[in-house]
Amino acid sequence: MEVPAMLITEVMRRKGNVPVVTVAPDRPVTELLEMLSAHRVGALVVSSDGTTVEGIVSERDVVRHLHSDGAHILELPVQAIMTAEVYTCGPGDDLQLLMRRMTDGRFRHVPVVDAERLVGIVSIGDVVKNRIDDLESERDQLTAYITG
Ligand code: AMP
Repeated sequence: MEVPAMLITEVMRRKGNVPVVTVAPDRPVTELLEMLSAHRVGALVVSSDGTTVEGIVSERDVVRHLHSDGAHILELPVQAIMTAEVYTCGPGDDLQLLMRRMTDGRFRHVPVVDAERLVGIVSIGDVVKNRIDDLESERDQLTAYITG
């Protein structure tokens, strides 16, 4: 049985095309923490205008810098702790490839960019959910084939 490729656009459609939360690079890390908590997410895209990706910052960056540099990093601007070289994907990319890239790169968030504009974000949670949904529907098809 041929398993069709799933595109990122389908992943975004399934989660309801929710807007991506961004933080401006000059905002303090304390504000980043407030936003991570309020939106219940693990990472924010760093952007001055809400559509141009300038970086990504996750809870891991905060933990790492707190440990290595101390509590004063909470007053620094987000750009002091963000990752500036961001791996992004496009809406037409294949989910399987993205899964491999996230595993190899050890990051759990990938912004989706279309014509240089931020249009979504895929988290490891979205990837796992889609994978489980697919495996369940494959299992149902196989069960129907065997018993039907
Ligand atoms: P995460 O697993 O997403 O919490 O991120 C782990 C580390 O990878 C942090 O230093 C992030 O800033 C960085 N990171 C997260 N997502 C990306 C990405 N798409 N491209 C490059 N680095 C990332």
